Amino acid sequence: SQGGRPVGRFAPSPTGDLHFGSLVAALGSYLNIRAQDGQWLVRIENIDPPREVPGAGHTQIETLARHGLVSDRPVVWQIDSTAAHQEAVEALIDAGRAYPCACSRADLPPDGRYPGTCRNGLPPGRKARSIRLRCEDEEVHFDDLIQGEYHQNPYRETGDFVIRRADGLYAYQLAVVVDDARAGVTEVVRGADLIDSTGRQILVYRALGLAPPRYAHLPLITDAQGRKLSKSEADDPIHASEPAANLRLALGLLGHPPPEGLERIDSLLSWAIEHWSIERVPRGPVQLGVHPQAA
Ligand code: GLU
Repeated sequence: SQGGRPVGRFAPSPTGDLHFGSLVAALGSYLNIRAQDGQWLVRIENIDPPREVPGAGHTQIETLARHGLVSDRPVVWQIDSTAAHQEAVEALIDAGRAYPCACSRADLPPDGRYPGTCRNGLPPGRKARSIRLRCEDEEVHFDDLIQGEYHQNPYRETGDFVIRRADGLYAYQLAVVVDDARAGVTEVVRGADLIDSTGRQILVYRALGLAPPRYAHLPLITDAQGRKLSKSEADDPIHASEPAANLRLALGLLGHPPPEGLERIDSLLSWAIEHWSIERVPRGPVQLGVHPQAA
């Protein structure tokens, strides 16, 4: 345990350069935890080698550092936690909370919801491919610190979901929970594009007998055309040569525009830590009007 100290994290997947939306997520999670005198961690979620871009994790760490965002503990590379992921999946199977499934995507209905085909055992002659978490038809409730009250029903929305994939890799929904729990993370602050996963992740916490963290989902950021930034990553890398301008813009989008005259990274960050109030963060979506590098 962290002796009661809050712990937050930023957990990018190394699938390319950080885009502006990821910088906002990193900054929001950093300020939220530093304002409570907590610890901020960086974890590179490199558990999906087919989607990984070589070198991207290191570049992400460097880009964060240029913006003054440095992990308080050694950076975690998620692939190093595979043994813990395996242990969690085995514990869930042993407890009857997870089960092997023989279905491939082609076996699923067009809406993608898993109909429970292998819930009570593999069909005769079929081999196990993935492992799924057994869900009940129940609402999962969470009170998001930015987005407000949420009710999700993963059983109806996705059905029993995959925690270990057919290719043997551990699914994001499982790995993120196991690693946050191991690190003692108390507050998950991340982009609103991940809010649909939250109900499933809370079910993983519960199935493992763990208490979920508090959640805050930052507003979705769109470009001037209203497109999600994460969909235009390639067009929108962060220009690392302008870190102070990037921070000023990101702070503005988070509802904390800094006063004129603050130009240094460290003064911007200390100003923001001192003035941080999560109630001021807009629910979004917020539009990135003038790009900082356009000037
Ligand atoms: N690695 C995930 C992503 O980059 C985010 C994990 C999280 O913050 O929960 O989309």
